Amino acid sequence: MSVSMTISGITVKAELGMTVLEAAQAHGIYIPTLCHHPKLTSVGACRLCLVEIENMRGFNTACTVPVTDGMVVRTETETLQKMRREILSLILSEHPYTCLVCERRPDCDDFQSTVRKAAVTTGCQYCPNNGQCEIPKLVDYLELRDIPYPIAYRGLAVENDDPFFDRDYNLCILCGRCVRVCQDVRHAGVLAFTYRGSQAIVGTAFGRSHLEADCQFCGACVDVCPTGALADKRGKWEGVPTSVVPSVCPYCSVNCAVNVQVKNNRVIRMVGHDDGPTNDGQLCVRGRFGVVDVVHSLTRLKTPLARRNGRLVEVSWDEALQAVAQGLNQYRGDQFAAIGSAAATNEESYVLQKFARGVMHSNNVALATGFPKHGNSEELVDTLRTISGPLIRDIRKVACILAIGTNVFDSHPIIGVEIRHALSKGARLITVDTRETNMAKVSTVWLQPKIGTDHILLAGMVKALAKERRTPELAKLNLAEVASITGVKEDIIVSAANMLAQHAPAIIIYGSGVTHYPTGPNVIKAIRSLAFVAGNVGLIGVPGEGNFVGAHDMGVHPALLPGYQSVSTPKVRKDFETKWETPLRGTPGRTYEDILAGIRQGEIKALWLAGEVPPLKDLANLAFLVVQDIVSTDNLQYAHVVLPATTFAEMDGTSTNLEGRVQRLHQAIPPMGVSRPGWMILRDVANLMGAGHWNYSSPADIMAEIVSLIPTYRGATYETLDVNGVIRRFEPVSKPKFVPFSLDTMPRITSDEFPLTLITERNLFYYHGACLTEQVKGMNLVKKEEVLQLSPSDLTRFGITDGSVVKVASQHGSAECVVEASRATPEGAAFTSINRVTGSPLFPALAPGTKACAVRITGRSPQGDA
Ligand code: SF4
Repeated sequence: MSVSMTISGITVKAELGMTVLEAAQAHGIYIPTLCHHPKLTSVGACRLCLVEIENMRGFNTACTVPVTDGMVVRTETETLQKMRREILSLILSEHPYTCLVCERRPDCDDFQSTVRKAAVTTGCQYCPNNGQCEIPKLVDYLELRDIPYPIAYRGLAVENDDPFFDRDYNLCILCGRCVRVCQDVRHAGVLAFTYRGSQAIVGTAFGRSHLEADCQFCGACVDVCPTGALADKRGKWEGVPTSVVPSVCPYCSVNCAVNVQVKNNRVIRMVGHDDGPTNDGQLCVRGRFGVVDVVHSLTRLKTPLARRNGRLVEVSWDEALQAVAQGLNQYRGDQFAAIGSAAATNEESYVLQKFARGVMHSNNVALATGFPKHGNSEELVDTLRTISGPLIRDIRKVACILAIGTNVFDSHPIIGVEIRHALSKGARLITVDTRETNMAKVSTVWLQPKIGTDHILLAGMVKALAKERRTPELAKLNLAEVASITGVKEDIIVSAANMLAQHAPAIIIYGSGVTHYPTGPNVIKAIRSLAFVAGNVGLIGVPGEGNFVGAHDMGVHPALLPGYQSVSTPKVRKDFETKWETPLRGTPGRTYEDILAGIRQGEIKALWLAGEVPPLKDLANLAFLVVQDIVSTDNLQYAHVVLPATTFAEMDGTSTNLEGRVQRLHQAIPPMGVSRPGWMILRDVANLMGAGHWNYSSPADIMAEIVSLIPTYRGATYETLDVNGVIRRFEPVSKPKFVPFSLDTMPRITSDEFPLTLITERNLFYYHGACLTEQVKGMNLVKKEEVLQLSPSDLTRFGITDGSVVKVASQHGSAECVVEASRATPEGAAFTSINRVTGSPLFPALAPGTKACAVRITGRSPQGDA
C-alpha cells in the first residue's frame, strides 16, 4: 500500500513500511548518512540523516522513521545543516581529515601511487580507499571547510596479520556497518564493539586475531565499510576500478553473481553483485578473495606448446591446432576419450561433447568430478534432470532443514548463510553427518550414523512417520534394528523425523557425502521417500563444482546427449545427426573411471583433457595427449600438445547453478597471453578435421544451437540473460512419491590391511583442487583441515602422537600427512580435505571413490612406525 508525503517540498509516493530515508532515496532526494546501508537494519547511529518532520517533536533520524500518509519532511533547513556540520566535524576530529578540507584537493588526483608505503594515513591521498570513500561527498555537500576541534588521532597500529584484509581503526568512524553485517547478515558474530565511550573500537572478542576468532573471511565487512578502515590486502592499493563487469563466481554450484572490478586490463577485485539472485550481494572467501591470484597466476599457460624432440616448446596457434588435428586423426572412434571439467562454461561443455561424438565418433566423454559408477547411477543423474525444487533464497523462509552428506557451511557458504538466517528466525536444523562438523555443532539435532548407513537411518525416519506398509523390507525393519545398524539411538531418530514432519515448510539439502558413496542411489531414493512421507518438504541437491549441473545438461556424459537424451534411442540420435550433420554412435561410451582404466590398459590411445582436471596416472600410456588448461599441472609432462585456455574472467559464456539458473559470464579482461576460450579451440580443431559446419563466431551462436536442441533452455539467449539469469526447468518426472529403496548395507571396504575409512570433504579455503587454490597466498595461510584427522582413541590404537608426520596408504598409493587429534572424527575413520587428496598418489585421480576409501597409517611417529 502506498502513501503520499512531502519531502523537501516535493510530493512523492512511498510504500508503507519504507523509512523516510528510503522514500527520499527512491525519488533521488539526498539525505546524508554514514551508518545506513541498504542491506543492513537501520540504527540511526551517525545522526547525519536528521530531518524535521511536521507534528513530530525534535529531530528524527530519517533512516529509522517509517513513512505515513500526509507526512511533511524537511531535509535541508539551516538548523539541520548546522547540526550535521557539527556531527561530521566531531566524527572527523578522530579521522585523518587534512585532505578532506584542503582547498587543493581537486589537484591531487594522481598522488596516491607515490605514497602507498606511508606507514600512517594522514589524509585521503594516503588512504587505500581514496576515490571510493563516502566521506568526501558529505564534506562537499555540507561545505565543511574546517574542523574546529583538536585532532584526536588514535595512533593505533594497523592490523595486518590476517590473511585477506588489513584493518586501520584510525580511519574507523564507528558507524557499526561491519559489526551489523557480521552479526545480522552473515550471522557470524566475529566482530563487535569493544570497550566503551571514547575508547570504543571495533574488534573481535578478547582481542584475538580474526583467524583465532573463527572468521570466515567472507569480506562482507570490507564491502560495507564506508571509509578505508577495512581494505582487502590484494586490491588495497589498486584504487578505483576503470570498469565493473557483471559475471558469475565459478567456484561452486551456487554461482554467486559478482561484479568483476577491472583496472589496466587486470582484475583488481571481485565483489558481490547487489542484485545477485542467489547471494544478495554476499560472497564467500573463495569468490571474494580467491580469484585475482588465480586469474593472474604466474603459472598461467599463455602460449601453445608442442612436443618436439621430447620437449615442450612454444609454437603458434596454427602449428598447435594442426598438430592436434593430425594427432587425433589417427584415433577416431573408441580409442579416443575426452575428460571435461565442471569449471567449463555451458558452451565449452556442449562443444566438447559434440566434438567427441560428432568429430571423433566416440561417446567416451565424461566429467572428472561426475557421479560415481556405483551400481545404477541413473537415480543420481535424475536429480539434475528433474531440478524443480526450492530456490536458495527460499531456505531462509523454512521452519526446518535437514542436511545430509554435506557441510554447506564450508562447501557452499552462501547456502550456509541462508541456513543461519533461518536459524536466527527459529528454524530447526537436523544434521546427518558422521563427523561433528561446524554445522553439526549448531544443529538442533545431530544424527551421527556409521559410515555408509545413511539410507538405513532415513528408512528409520520413514518408518517413524509412516505407519502403513510401504515395502516388505521396510515392513520388517524395526527401529531397534535401525539403531543398532546406524549407531543412532531410536528416540533421536523418532524425534528428528517428527521435527521434519511437524515444522513445515521444510527442506532437505543433500550433497556429495551421500551422492558419491556406493550407497548414493539408494540414499537419493530414501531422501525422496522421506520428503514424501513427511509432506511439504522441498529438496535441494548441492553438487560441488561451479557448472556441474550445466556440464550434465550439455551432455558431458557417456550415455547422454544434451538435455539428458539417451544416445541409445534411435529417434533421439537421428535428431542430433540431422542437426549436427554427422553420424553418431548408439552405444554409451566409457565413464570417467572406465576411461582411466582404458588408459591404464592401453585401450584409450588419445585423450583430450579439457579444463581443470587433476593430475592423472598412466598418461604415459597414451599415444596422443592434448591438455587444454589455464595453469601448468603435472599432466603437462605427458602432453603432446598444450593449449592455453582462458579463465571465466576472460571470456563470455553461461553457467547453470544448482537451482537450474542459467547466468551470463561476461568477459572482463583480455585473454592472458594468446590463450583462447575452450569453445574456440575445439571449433578450430573440428574445422581442421573436416567438420565443415562448425561456424560459431561467438558463444552466443553456440547458445542459440543449445536452445534449439534443449527445449528447457529456451529463453536463455544472450539477449535475454541478465544478472538474474533464467531458470531452466525440466518437467518433473512425477509428483513427489514414495520410491522403494533397498536396505542392503554397504559392503565392508576396510580390511585388516586397510583398517580405516577415509572421509573427505570440501574445505572453505581450498576448492577446485590444490592446483588452483594454491595460487592464492591468503588461502595457503589458512588451509585448515589439510591435516589428517584421527580420533584420539585411534591415535592411541596406532601409537601415533598428535602432530606427527605419518604415511597414509590406500590400495592405489601413499602420501605423507601431518596427523591431528580430532574429537569430531569418529573412531575407525580418518578425515582430510578433498583438496588434500586431489591428485594425491593415494588415489588414481579425483576418483569418486575418494568418498569411500580404505586406508592404513604406516606412519613415522616419535614412537616409531605404527
Ligand atoms: Fe563462489 Fe560458491 Fe563462494 Fe558463492 S558460495 S562466492 S559461488 S564459492
